[in-house]
Amino acid sequence: METRIRLGVSACLLGDNVRFDGGHKLDRFITDTLGQFVEYVPVCPEVECGLPVPREAMRLMGDPASPRLVTSRTNVEHTERMIAWARKRAAELEAEGLCGYIFKSNSPSSGMERVRVYDANGVPSKTGVGLFARIFMEHFPLLPVEDEGRLHDMKLRENFIERVFTLKRWRDTLAVGRTRGNLVAFHTRHKLLLLAHSPKHYREMGRLVAHAKELPPDELFPHYEAQLTEAMTLKATPAKHANVLHHLMGYFKEQLSPDEKQELLGAIESYRKGHVPLIVPVTLINHYVRKYDQPYLREQWYLNPHPIELQLRNHV
Ligand code: SF4
Repeated sequence: METRIRLGVSACLLGDNVRFDGGHKLDRFITDTLGQFVEYVPVCPEVECGLPVPREAMRLMGDPASPRLVTSRTNVEHTERMIAWARKRAAELEAEGLCGYIFKSNSPSSGMERVRVYDANGVPSKTGVGLFARIFMEHFPLLPVEDEGRLHDMKLRENFIERVFTLKRWRDTLAVGRTRGNLVAFHTRHKLLLLAHSPKHYREMGRLVAHAKELPPDELFPHYEAQLTEAMTLKATPAKHANVLHHLMGYFKEQLSPDEKQELLGAIESYRKGHVPLIVPVTLINHYVRKYDQPYLREQWYLNPHPIELQLRNHV
């Protein structure tokens, strides 16, 4: 990577004492594990829009599609203040080159989904989005976003991190130059990763790249980027991974001994059935890539999409 990945994050998740009660919500995965590979841009909507620490807790009220932000006990409204600040802050964040954002779950300002919204009778429903989170996501519709609660689910974590790292590689490619050659090189190395997320996008993007010369760069690059982010949003399932692993195995058809073939097929099947994590067949394939010197596969990001220290692909 040319530069460090930059992620926006709710400041309290980094351990900043900015919550209404003067505390924080430090998340060790975010700071200690992911933090080794990214640079965070902390944002606390409530403090940055001018509210003090400590402060009265707030909640969303009214229509879940456009709720009001009010203090829980004294009913003081902060909706307009928050919306005006959030629009300005979202515009400012364009200059930060963010590759994603991690929100604090359940917050009336920062929660990205299922935030409690209270009706006129004080009955909550988990149907809201925090005011800042909504404006941010509308401003950056293609950016990977998650909250810290969802990141405890290993599948969601893996998907988010793959999206973030892929977006960064794409940005680095664009920074080197918007040439068709760079697009082809990027696409070639991401083919199997795309296939794992969406066979449909894999086919469509292949056609787009094959006809790259027919489109002006102003159309080609935004179109490819939209397809890329859309594809990576779709989850890679065990069935899709098994398909990619069989596809990979095809490259060694002539070289693998019957015994090696059997071992690899067994590892893929055990993974597909949920008996072993994805890292098992992938490690075996990486071994054969080295042993039989497969330059095309050596370049495939699918086999090493993120740093090993993140301990992904390690769950069943
Ligand atoms: S959830 Fe958002 S608004 Fe609340 S303390 Fe954390 S960063 Fe600030």
